Amino acid sequence: MSPMKSMTIDRRACLGGVLAAAALPFIRIVPAGAGAGYAAEIAPGVFVHRGQHAIFSPGNQGDISNPGFVVGEEAVAVIDTGGSPVVGRALQAAVTAVTDKPVRYVINTHMHPDHVFGNAVFERDGVTFAGHRKLERGLLARADRYLAINKELLGPAAFDGTKIIPPGLKVDGVRTLDLGGRTLELTAHPTAHTDNDLTVKDSITGTVFMGDLLFVEHIPTIDGSIKGWMALLDEFGQSPPVRVVPGHGPAALAWSAAAAPLQRYLNAVASDVRLLIKQGKTLAEATEMAGLSEKDAWLLWDEYHKRNVSAAFAELEWE
Ligand SMILES: [Zn+2]
Repeated sequence: MSPMKSMTIDRRACLGGVLAAAALPFIRIVPAGAGAGYAAEIAPGVFVHRGQHAIFSPGNQGDISNPGFVVGEEAVAVIDTGGSPVVGRALQAAVTAVTDKPVRYVINTHMHPDHVFGNAVFERDGVTFAGHRKLERGLLARADRYLAINKELLGPAAFDGTKIIPPGLKVDGVRTLDLGGRTLELTAHPTAHTDNDLTVKDSITGTVFMGDLLFVEHIPTIDGSIKGWMALLDEFGQSPPVRVVPGHGPAALAWSAAAAPLQRYLNAVASDVRLLIKQGKTLAEATEMAGLSEKDAWLLWDEYHKRNVSAAFAELEWE
C-alpha cells in the first residue's frame, strides 16, 4: 500500500533533470488541507521545508532553517524541527497532509536552536528522538542561554512551548532506522560545524540531509572545528551523495553546487588566518582582515563572519 495520500505530483518534472541541474528541480506537492505547500517533495517520499535566511525575529517565528521528513510504508521520520513550536506545528501539519503514517522518529542534525526548538510539538508516546551521542551534552550545556536568547529574540507568540528534548537514541558511528520499505542511515561525525553533527541518508533516493554541514547562500557558522569541517567535506567529496539537503539554502541540490562555495569560504578563512598568525597579527586585527574575498558571496555576513574568524584563529594559532 502506498504510504501517501493522493496528491498531484508531476514526477516527470523531477526525473527529467535531476542529474543535470545544479539546483535540483523538486516535485511540488498539492495536497488538500492544513500544511499544504509547506514542504516540497524533493525526491519520492522525501519532503523539505525551506526556511528563510535570517536571524531569529518575531516576524519569521523561528523559521530560519530547513527541516524535513521522510515517509516510509509504516512510519515517518522528521529531520530537524525548525526554531520554534510554530515551525514544528507547521511541519506536523505538512506530515499529516501527505500521509496518515505516524511520526516514529525525530532526528536532530545538531544542537543549534534553529534546528531543534520545534521538537516539543512531536513529543508523545511512541516517538523516539535521535541525535549524535554528543548532542545531549551540547544541548544541556547551553540550554539556559539558548532558551533565554530565543525567548527574547522571538517573543512569546513564537517561543511559548519551546522545550529542550535530548535524544533518547544516541548515535555513535552509524545507526540504521527502519521506516518500513525504506531505511535511514544516521551517521555521527567528528567535530566540524559543531561537535555533534549527524547526517541522514535515505536508502531509496540516496538523498542525504546534511544539517549545517552544508550552508548555501547563508554564510556558514563555525561552532566546532574549521579543520575538521574542511576534512569532512573532502571526505564526502570522495563519493558524493546524489542529492543533498543543506541546513540553510535551497531545499535540495547536487553535491558540488552545495559544497564548492562552502569549501571555498572555509579555505579562504583558514589560509588567511594562518598567514595573519604567521605575521604576528592579533585576533582583533585578523577579524578585520581575514576572508574578505568572500564578502559578496554570502548573506548574513555582518552577523557571523567575524565570529567565524575568531573561532578559526583560536583553533589555528596552536597548530
Ligand atoms: Zn547550526
